Amino acid sequence: MLTVSDLDLFYGDAQALDGVTLEVAAGGTTAIVGANGAGKTSLIRSIAGILKPARGSIRFKGRDIAGLPSHVVCDLGIGQVAEGRQIFPTLSVRENLEMGAVIPRARAAAKQTFDRALDLFPRLRERLDQAAGTLSGGEQQMLAIGRCLMGKPELIMFDEPSLGLSPALVQELFRIIRRLAEDGMTIILVEQNVAASLRLADRAYVLENGRVVLSGSGEALLADPAVKQAYLGL
Ligand code: ATP
Repeated sequence: MLTVSDLDLFYGDAQALDGVTLEVAAGGTTAIVGANGAGKTSLIRSIAGILKPARGSIRFKGRDIAGLPSHVVCDLGIGQVAEGRQIFPTLSVRENLEMGAVIPRARAAAKQTFDRALDLFPRLRERLDQAAGTLSGGEQQMLAIGRCLMGKPELIMFDEPSLGLSPALVQELFRIIRRLAEDGMTIILVEQNVAASLRLADRAYVLENGRVVLSGSGEALLADPAVKQAYLGL
């Protein structure tokens, strides 16, 4: 569904991505693993059209999307749950969800998608008229995911979705991501909970200093001695 080839990205003179190549299969979950500063967020933002790569291609369903503006990428069906949640705190939960469906591909089905999002997140249903900024951290994260789903993405990218959540909510979050995967959603997952993300992943890539240094099935990487030592604390 998505093929990234030979991607280079710079911030001024500093190179953040160096020849990154990876493949995301339709309906699968792809995990991106790497230390702080490895380039994971830069990769997600390049795919989302927020950053413009210097070289390489990003093909989504056969079309090169590298360098297209983010609203176009979004409308082609790539949704992103960014690090830090980015909900609108003074708007209600309902308004935040509705904002997610303003793009053309999502508008017609907004009512159904709204019901579906609330089925997935019953706690949001109880708080529809509450200002989003008064939700707990976990609820805000659920709202950010719900809003992304309102855009009817075919591919959804999660950047550190569990950041700041309690252990119980992290489990809940992984249950939800697993449920989306079971429903056939294509997922890219960047997570500090490396073991949990590899368990979910059909395929995983390890980034170091902007380069892919290792890839394989989630299971294979879980068993890889270098991954165990560097990312699993084993
Ligand atoms: P983290 O888990 O800490 O978010 P990451 O793997 O997502 O790390 P990136 O945020 O993509 O890594 O950063 C990759 C490199 O690019 C780092 O060296 C970082 O310092 C640099 N970088 C990121 N954003 C900028 C920016 N806006 N300006 C300059 N350099 C940046």
